[in-house]
Amino acid sequence: MNTKPLVENVFWQKEKECMPKGELRALQLQKLRTLVARVYASVPAYTRAFDDAGVKPDDIKALDDIRRLPFTTKADLRENYPLGYLAIPRSEVVRFHGSSGSTGKPTFVAYSKSDMDNWVNLCARFLYAGGLRPGMTAQVAFGYGLFTGGFGLHQGIERVGAAVLPASSGNTARQLVLLQDLGADFLICTPSYALHLADGIQSGAIDRSSLNLKGMFLGSEPWTEAMRRRMEEGLGIYVENNYGLSEVQGPGISGECAFRNGMHVAEDHFIVECINPETLEPVEEGEEGELVFTTLNKEAFPLIRYRTRDISRLDNAACPCGRTSVRMSRITGRTDDMLIIRGVNVYPSQIEAALLAIQEASPHYMIEVSRPKSMDEVTVHVELKPNSMVDSISELNAIRDRIVAGIAGVTGLHMKVALEQPNTLERFEGKSKRVKDLRNLKD
Ligand code: ADP
Ligand code: ZN
Repeated sequence: MNTKPLVENVFWQKEKECMPKGELRALQLQKLRTLVARVYASVPAYTRAFDDAGVKPDDIKALDDIRRLPFTTKADLRENYPLGYLAIPRSEVVRFHGSSGSTGKPTFVAYSKSDMDNWVNLCARFLYAGGLRPGMTAQVAFGYGLFTGGFGLHQGIERVGAAVLPASSGNTARQLVLLQDLGADFLICTPSYALHLADGIQSGAIDRSSLNLKGMFLGSEPWTEAMRRRMEEGLGIYVENNYGLSEVQGPGISGECAFRNGMHVAEDHFIVECINPETLEPVEEGEEGELVFTTLNKEAFPLIRYRTRDISRLDNAACPCGRTSVRMSRITGRTDDMLIIRGVNVYPSQIEAALLAIQEASPHYMIEVSRPKSMDEVTVHVELKPNSMVDSISELNAIRDRIVAGIAGVTGLHMKVALEQPNTLERFEGKSKRVKDLRNLKD
């Protein structure tokens, strides 16, 4: 556990963030009971689901009774498309958003006035904890639109009292000009786009010393500690992780504190469970499992036990920052982006970690899965770093062999590796799509 803060350890809503655990659990139970009664009465999909599960609002007497409640899934949201889970009159909705649809048709969510206020404060919590202060400037390179990332972070920055530079996503050359000419202290985007911009800076396109950049707040897709180190060491900044998903709220569900021991979940707003995705039973604390969220305060779009498909670990041990909330580890994958190769479960993040351990490999890669005969084959396309001085075939072969061995070391699988010229693989402005699965897995 880190015991030294990276930035000054401050709180946005100290009383809520540092509430004694016993008080926090009592608050959660009281809110859960109110929530369950409310959705049972106002959301027909929940009335049906509770009846099918044979549970009535009055059955919820202790926090553990949450396990008697049915789960909600993305499929449920789609079945009740577009707004079947709306729990307030339509006239009280002040904002709509939607998931980015990276896994199919978008799903819509709605916010009341009070939902917006809570959401903005929760974004301010992690921004303030991570070093954003009034008077600073933050450049938001997330897309503005249905996606919750852009507007969520935008409003959080304003709430902190800092200046927002709403660059939105795309146009790398312009992002760099903005960073340079308006001197943002923080950059906010996806990890893959941050890496792309970092490459731009490090390639000498602009002079690092002409920037005022101190840090980045990254989220919205899985990334690794190794990726963080590369950006921090390469640019001399610090890089913070935050997590959210539109169905549950958007950004602000959890974020790192100054000590960076995982991401503190806003437990005064959400109950988080970590379950075994097969048995649906809770895993032991500290073990990997799927995160499941119940929203305690949301008026417009409350969800009961929403299955995120995100794999993480929970830690309730005290954090030196003084916050009492549980911390979640980095997301190591989604149960649905998990690749099963010759029967072995593999996450793209494992392959990424192996690549980042190789000096000459850049973090730009693409995983292609095929099944030429009956056996799965994986080819990992990886770009060499622009400045890696390789001038003989035998050196290239040696690098490739080391990457193959590295990947085998973390995944237990032999994968083919294709070395690519620098700057030849696709770059991503939003969420990256690094897996091409060419197998027909349906028949
Ligand atoms: P979708 O991508 O399903 O359309 P969202 O745009 O709301 O929906 O994205 C939410 C998902 O993004 C999360 O469920 C999680 O998989 C991923 N995500 C968000 N933040 C992080 C993070 N810090 N680390 C890893 N994954 C993240
Ligand atoms: Zn902490």
